[in-house]
Amino acid sequence: MTTTTILWDVDGTLLFNAASGGGELYHAAVEAAAGRALHPPLPRAHGKTDGQILFEILEAFDLDAELHDDAVAALDALSVERAKAGDRRAIAPGIPQAIAAAADRGWINALLTGNSATRSRVKLAGAGLEPDLFDWSRSFFGDRSRERRDITLAARSALPDERLVIIGDTPRDDIAAVAAGIPFIAVATGVYTVDALRQTGALIVVPTIAEGLDAVLDVIESLPGVAAA
Ligand SMILES: [Mg+2]
Repeated sequence: MTTTTILWDVDGTLLFNAASGGGELYHAAVEAAAGRALHPPLPRAHGKTDGQILFEILEAFDLDAELHDDAVAALDALSVERAKAGDRRAIAPGIPQAIAAAADRGWINALLTGNSATRSRVKLAGAGLEPDLFDWSRSFFGDRSRERRDITLAARSALPDERLVIIGDTPRDDIAAVAAGIPFIAVATGVYTVDALRQTGALIVVPTIAEGLDAVLDVIESLPGVAAA
């Protein structure tokens, strides 16, 4: 039987986005890597990978791309610090039920996110969503990726024999899914509305997983297996 793996996005999908201040952490991480203050911060971006956002800030301030590794490390450290200080996200409606329903069907829950593994773990645990619900050996992270498609292509080539599906909240998730030939399901729990997400190639768009769980499960159930190479 073909293994089915659901690749969940984190921000805006499993968890609601931070109410405020989500963007300033990247800026602070690059400042830490550069060793000086930088002004003004770039506008906040949704659906971009951590790697991409950090590269863009480095480029905007004419800083060496070699500082990227230091910025990633600083971003992880700042995220851990914030979580310890009590910064918490909320789980999007219906997510625990959806994860349980998928597991009941023998499907694997995993992550495909622009976050690093460290930041994913901190955000999930902080929100009260048990990180062990996800298969970390089948999860893909974006702290080194310049583009989200780097992550989806990595997933597709690492799991060539599995039936994959991405659940995410932004048109960037769709573009990256298409680039790797992975089907995409959209939830409007991030900043994009149902109508905006209907402009993507999503197989189905639901306002929240809670409202559309049966339909989402049906869509995943009916996905074709992996075509023979
Ligand atoms: Mg997202």
